[in-house]
Amino acid sequence: MPAQRSIVICGGAFAGLALAVALRQGLGPDIPVVVADPALSQRPSRDPRATAIVAACRRLFETLGVWGQVAPTAQPITDMVVTDSKLQDATRPVFLTFGGNVAPGEPFAHMVENRYLIDALAARAEAEGVELRATAVSSFASRPDGVAVTLADGTDIDASLLVAADGARSKLRERAGIATHGWDYDQSGIVVTVGHEREHHGRAEEHFLPAGPFAILPLTGNRSSLVWTETRKDAARITALNDEQFHAELEQRFGLHLGEIKALDRPRAFPLGYFVARSFIAERLALIGDAAHVIHPIAGQGLNMGLKDVAALAEVVVDAARLGMDLGQADVLERYQRWRRFDTMAMGVATNSLNFLFSNESTLLRTVRDIGLGLVDRAPPLKSMFIRQAAGLSGEVPRLLKGEAL
Ligand SMILES: Cc1cc2nc3c(=O)[nH]c(=O)nc-3n(C[C@H](O)[C@H](O)[C@H](O)COP(=O)(O)OP(=O)(O)OC[C@H]3O[C@@H](n4cnc5c(N)ncnc54)[C@H](O)[C@@H]3O)c2cc1C
Repeated sequence: MPAQRSIVICGGAFAGLALAVALRQGLGPDIPVVVADPALSQRPSRDPRATAIVAACRRLFETLGVWGQVAPTAQPITDMVVTDSKLQDATRPVFLTFGGNVAPGEPFAHMVENRYLIDALAARAEAEGVELRATAVSSFASRPDGVAVTLADGTDIDASLLVAADGARSKLRERAGIATHGWDYDQSGIVVTVGHEREHHGRAEEHFLPAGPFAILPLTGNRSSLVWTETRKDAARITALNDEQFHAELEQRFGLHLGEIKALDRPRAFPLGYFVARSFIAERLALIGDAAHVIHPIAGQGLNMGLKDVAALAEVVVDAARLGMDLGQADVLERYQRWRRFDTMAMGVATNSLNFLFSNESTLLRTVRDIGLGLVDRAPPLKSMFIRQAAGLSGEVPRLLKGEAL
């Protein structure tokens, strides 16, 4: 049996920390797991954003022992309504409704505030004995039998496997010479938290407006998180408005169905794009999360895709360790890539098509999509198939996403 060395994870956000905890639990204490990220020094996190976490990923967090800390601050999504209208339309007829549970008492998704999730993951990682280093990975050199990793603080680590969880602008991906396929949308997602007078009752709303989707996602208390798509130019204009002008733009889109509304933080615009790495692996290197793929937030699946990478990579590595294999050897990494790349491409095609179909003022397209939404709404088996798909419970699901320990 080969001597097992460390696994180094570059990037200590959602994907990197979740993988570290999963590996530590599956491999035991003999194989050191190191997470390096300068952002680890910024605790507690101040990230004001929130993320829709689907049922399968909630099961992963529960199995990793993280969900207990997050649950009190998480808002179950009990149902979802979809409308399709112009900005000036007086009413927005509902074309599609999704009712919520994938299993009794288990909603298809929760809204989770990023800061609570990241802090819970970091605390769990620490408790499991993951070595957290608040420094960057500055370089690496792969050989057939290992990978030499150098951290920005000067530490050298001889590892079996290096994982790039360093986000969309991954330097590790670039250094490994892995190209990406994709494009920028001429769109930004404006993110802002809104307080409202009346309760949302756990209802999520997706309003397809001509500039793109305007999603109202329920948070605990009388608060919602918005992901509001505009062209990049309009998003820059809207986020630069003063509070009063911004309120007027917000109210025009949000409406008054939840009573008076108020922005609780400054709106921020995130430029939107789509890409998939041409390979998810290189010698002794695996890409996970946004380092491997970025998709449009139209279906709230970006991080959920990254967590599927986490569950699949952790499973193939732990299985390899049990068979006495070298954890970073090519066939272990190829199994990971086969598992994840096709699913990622399929999700990319789905989100690109949705965005094309719905961020569009064409009357013909509008008629076609509204007929489609109406048909789905009247076909319960089709609806439940979509819910299972959206909840991450279809296809070849890794064990952690089924709620099974590795
Ligand atoms: C507007 C918007 C709304 C979204 N809503 C949803 C949603 O509802 N549901 C969903 O599933 N997804 C959503 N997403 C997508 C989701 O936010 C991302 O997929 C997720 O944050 C990616 O996590 P990550 O851990 O892969 O990478 P990141 O969060 O980008 O983290 C990368 C980390 O790597 C570190 N790093 C970078 N370089 C180095 C280095 N050299 N050495 C060490 N560390 C390094 C960084 O400091 C950072 O901490 C949304 C995205 C946007 C833009």
